[in-house]
Amino acid sequence: MARYAYVNGRYVDHREATVHIEDRGYQLADGVYEVVGVRDGKLIDEKPHLDRLDRSLNELRIAQPVSRRTLGFIIRELMRRNRLRDGLVYMQVTRGVARRDHAFPTTPTKPSLVLTTKNTRHLGADAGPGIAVKSQPDIRWERCDIKTVALLPNVLAKQAARENGAYEAWLVDAAGCVTEGASTNAWIVTKEGELVTRQTDSGILAGITRGTLKSIANTLQLRLVERPFSLSEAKQAREAFITSATSFVTPVIRIDDQPVGDGKPGPTARRLREEYVRFADTAEVVI
Ligand code: PLP
Repeated sequence: MARYAYVNGRYVDHREATVHIEDRGYQLADGVYEVVGVRDGKLIDEKPHLDRLDRSLNELRIAQPVSRRTLGFIIRELMRRNRLRDGLVYMQVTRGVARRDHAFPTTPTKPSLVLTTKNTRHLGADAGPGIAVKSQPDIRWERCDIKTVALLPNVLAKQAARENGAYEAWLVDAAGCVTEGASTNAWIVTKEGELVTRQTDSGILAGITRGTLKSIANTLQLRLVERPFSLSEAKQAREAFITSATSFVTPVIRIDDQPVGDGKPGPTARRLREEYVRFADTAEVVI
């Protein structure tokens, strides 16, 4: 089956989809992106993802390439062409093509818009066996709230994790606190039964899955606290887990070779996974 990508106004064969060599995204990582989960052909949390895309663009003073309505149409048309049932829609906007110079082009460029899709298996309500995480120093810049394509520190952290048999890296700041994962948000459940995740500020990305899980936790009347937590607190925690559009809610059973709790997925993470899947299955589509 042909696979399509969307590139600046055209649906093209994925194998032949290209951008200009002087695209500022390619040369300077001057661009932003979004990843939206798709389940049974439906987008999960489309509106908050597109709101976050707008925010990232505004923070970097990149113009919107198309209206929200048009973007919604493009997303659906690409999903239709690629017969996407379960997977991800990736969208990227860069400042566009210009003669190379660090400063913004003096004559405004047309932002570049690229979309691709990826098939994944249908994720279940069962949280699975859990994953290991590896701690890594957080060497990123001070605007991690912007979802930019400048991901080299995240790439290196994730690679270090994989080389150590872990699925994800947990990034640790100068104060010894876990900020977030290389591509996920980090959560723990303390011995006192408190659900803890770091507050959103410019130190982490405000995950859309994180936001939805906050509402779910409130509905379940869990005690949720948004505050920094240290790596050693995480290692002593009763449970730990990660959230993202790609991984939903996935239990962490090992941090740096130390088992979390009894080394098995905990009840809170498993329950939140079930509730998140229920949400994804039943949520109304709001654009
Ligand atoms: N934190 C980082 C650094 C990420 O890259 C991501 C997702 O890509 C997340 C958190 C999770 O965000 P979301 O739940 O919106 O996928």
